[in-house]
Amino acid sequence: MLALVSDDVLSVVPSDPCWQPDRATGQRVAELVTSLTLVDGDGGWCEVTWHDDVALVDCGGNLERIGCLGCGRQLDGEWWRDLIEERHTSGSGLADLAVVVPCCGAATTLDALEYDWPVAFARFEIAVWNPSRTFDPGDGRLDDDAAAAVERALGHPIRQVRAHY
Ligand SMILES: [Zn+2]
Repeated sequence: MLALVSDDVLSVVPSDPCWQPDRATGQRVAELVTSLTLVDGDGGWCEVTWHDDVALVDCGGNLERIGCLGCGRQLDGEWWRDLIEERHTSGSGLADLAVVVPCCGAATTLDALEYDWPVAFARFEIAVWNPSRTFDPGDGRLDDDAAAAVERALGHPIRQVRAHY
């Protein structure tokens, strides 16, 4: 029989896709996020990554809808996945987020589309795998006070992505 294993991930990233903290700041903030989200013995862990290029911080199976803020229509998920894949394999990565959407022809950027649940684009990521429920205010994200503390420590506004795999 196959074992069905699923993981929940809370990712904390800077709101500016290109922005990166220095190593010491990034490590310090990762320790803060760990203290806010993980309890020893619960089995979760924290990964901190400085990406060379802008990377997609995916929400996995939580992505239900991508909308265009220009015309309000829903974008085809296949079109979006193909586009992300193509930019990764073409070698230019996601350095250029510019996109012309097929629904209304508007020129916009990938990070300005409406994602439900949210995804993000980032060059720095703190990923907490299987965070403890004790921190969870209900929607699996840091609450306002915790998020504000992380932003102060990072020196930059943050976005949070909840992924399920
Ligand atoms: Zn549109």
